Amino acid sequence: MKRLIVTGSLLLVAVIVCSSWGFLGHRTIHQLAIYELPPSMRYYFHQNMSEIVKNSVRPDQRRSQDKEEASKHFVDLELYGDSAAWRMPLLWKDAVKKYGKDSLLKCGYVPYHVITMKEKLTAAFRNGNKDSILFYAIDLGHYISDAHVPLHVTENYDGQLSNQKGLHSLWESMVPEIEIQKYDLRGRHKAKYLKHPERSIWRAVRQSYKLLPDVFAAEKEVTRSFTEAEKYRVQIRNGREYKNYTSAFAKAYSARLGETINKQLISSANLLADFWYTAWVDAGCPNLNKGLLKNEKNKEALQVEMEAFKKNQLLEKKLLLSKQGSDKED
Ligand SMILES: [Zn+2]
Repeated sequence: MKRLIVTGSLLLVAVIVCSSWGFLGHRTIHQLAIYELPPSMRYYFHQNMSEIVKNSVRPDQRRSQDKEEASKHFVDLELYGDSAAWRMPLLWKDAVKKYGKDSLLKCGYVPYHVITMKEKLTAAFRNGNKDSILFYAIDLGHYISDAHVPLHVTENYDGQLSNQKGLHSLWESMVPEIEIQKYDLRGRHKAKYLKHPERSIWRAVRQSYKLLPDVFAAEKEVTRSFTEAEKYRVQIRNGREYKNYTSAFAKAYSARLGETINKQLISSANLLADFWYTAWVDAGCPNLNKGLLKNEKNKEALQVEMEAFKKNQLLEKKLLLSKQGSDKED
């Protein structure tokens, strides 16, 4: 639920509920993207992997403190007019001219924010400030991943307009949590240079948008084989009623969707690696490996992970940080 406003004791609930892709999705995407980088970048990113993975959800956590944060995570395409995914300007400055800044802040602008973050990352690489490099690399990844979630590109972002409330976290959190063991997380992609990053992120947005009809239709179809009690789990917390989909429903929904979520997760990692690489190339390929290559232990660890990544064994070998438990990570 993207725009839920909560305070006090509900804050923790809010962070969990508001998490786009959920903690698991974001963290997994950031880790996989590291393995897709060329060696000239991979060592450095791997050296900082636990920080990158852990902070991949930081932009969601900022939402509770920063009113302007939320609209960086989505774009409600329908509010920008007919066929907006194909008609919206590629660049922020043209979008401001066309719609005005207030509309963009209200209706969301994730694809433009991705480009802003990419430019900040390029500047950070150029300046050689390691803290800034990590900061912008992590945030950039978050927004790219959000753009791959179909429910982040529609005004019906939680199924609230079609009597399917709760669909947001079903798609991006519940299903991946339940199904990740079955996902193919194999590395088939190598980071490539993006000549037109703005076109690339818009392509991703369009792909998310094209998935939407099926995201909604699948829920309706699966509902036909469930009673209300089988479909929802009702919990009372702090005197409020919370209705969530049951695991049984999430499993049936996932089966009906097929590989969609798995594919979007991998596409997110692929495009993230491409963006990181492009920012680095645009900054003149600064040397990130200084001193790192002497660390044999790290090199060996990375090699083991790369092997597991290629064979889809990260989970089996307990190398996927997002599944190693939040106690260990936090
Ligand atoms: Zn987000």
